[in-house]
Amino acid sequence: MIFYSTENKNNKVTLSQAVIQGLADDKGLFMPEKIKALPASFFENISSMSFQEMAFEVAKNFFGEDIPEEALKDIVYDTLSFDTPLVKVNENIHSLELFHGPTLAFKDVGGRFMARILRYLLNEEKENVNVLVATSGDTGSAVANGFYEVDGIKVFVLYPKGKVSNLQEKQFTTLGQNITALEIDGTFDDCQALVKEAFMDQDLKSRHKLTSANSINVARFLPQAFYYFHAWAQLSAEEKAKEVVVSVPSGNLGNITAGIIAQQMGLPIHRFIAANNENDVVYEYIQTGEYKPRRSVETIANAMDVGAPSNFARVLDLYQHDHKKITAILEGARYSDQEIREIILRVAKDHNYICDPHGATGFASLETALKEDQVGIFLETAHPAKFNETMEDILGDIEIPEKLKAFLNKEKKSIALSNQYNDFKTLIDQIAF
Ligand SMILES: *Cc1c(COP(=O)(O)O)cnc(C)c1O
Repeated sequence: MIFYSTENKNNKVTLSQAVIQGLADDKGLFMPEKIKALPASFFENISSMSFQEMAFEVAKNFFGEDIPEEALKDIVYDTLSFDTPLVKVNENIHSLELFHGPTLAFKDVGGRFMARILRYLLNEEKENVNVLVATSGDTGSAVANGFYEVDGIKVFVLYPKGKVSNLQEKQFTTLGQNITALEIDGTFDDCQALVKEAFMDQDLKSRHKLTSANSINVARFLPQAFYYFHAWAQLSAEEKAKEVVVSVPSGNLGNITAGIIAQQMGLPIHRFIAANNENDVVYEYIQTGEYKPRRSVETIANAMDVGAPSNFARVLDLYQHDHKKITAILEGARYSDQEIREIILRVAKDHNYICDPHGATGFASLETALKEDQVGIFLETAHPAKFNETMEDILGDIEIPEKLKAFLNKEKKSIALSNQYNDFKTLIDQIAF
């Protein structure tokens, strides 16, 4: 498969280049040249296939030309070592629970897949690589756990000191081995700026092979299409005959873009909703046609605190930059912190279901948007216990799953660094491949 840059369709690369490079050299995002529709037989059989079998069929569409079947099958099966069950919340709304993986968030799917495909591609090219990732919480844990003990890859997780929760911090500072946690004396923006500067530093890059693992990477965002198929497969025959609306709690838009790609492969999704918190640039674009990126503000759905969504360029590209075409399929919604708190409380009371602050925006947007006879699915993007302080404020004590508790009992290991680029560079020179 050939991938092109959203900045220039003539700037084309192979799968291996797209994955190892991350971002195109013209700063565009890579897009698959073809989005092939799956055959009718696939949709006829979908409900009798396992999640892994179905995902393998989807994966072949994008990666089958470049990776032999057996190797690709191993990558897909190994990635999906957990399920994404569809759980009924009320009469016509279901929750797609994406939090049954190692770090209890949907990013596990992309993180695990990317680590495995990168290892495969590096073995082909006999190379080692360093992954740099800046995190405000969830990305760091999914990437660190996805890449943990993968040969030939060292991961550096940069995070702002004192600004991630204890639970989140433990998920990427306790692993050790090929994972190095860097506690930066600064903000998340400082962490991101250090990573960006490293990618532009030709001197550093002449000594070390560097790549990124955020959702701009095709190997992280495309596999997220898998669970949209699995969600639809779990609907009853009666529900499958209805119009299906999918709501995605959105930040950088990687998740929803993968859903749109699933739809373009033939998955019968009627409409998508991009649910925002107070960081509502996408909502505003949908309403007005004007895209005005800005600084993000802090909210209780903090994984969606994004002021300039990195995958917006992909959405524009998929619809030829046409606002009319985009709004024909995509609508927006926005919720304040106060509204999110009320939704969580109400859903717990009325439906005996616990939404996390991100999923809550998805549920509420469906309540508002669904027409009679439509079925709604929202993506429950993380386990509520990951946000235990917020959740306890709203609902009182909540249960922490064993998987999370296990991280809490381990010892934090991290390297403290200033937010000065030279300190970061010196450290990379000392310990990177
Ligand atoms: C990352 C994240 C999001 C946002 O996903 P995007 O792909 O960036 O739109 C939503 N919810 C949770 C819990 C997340 O970790």
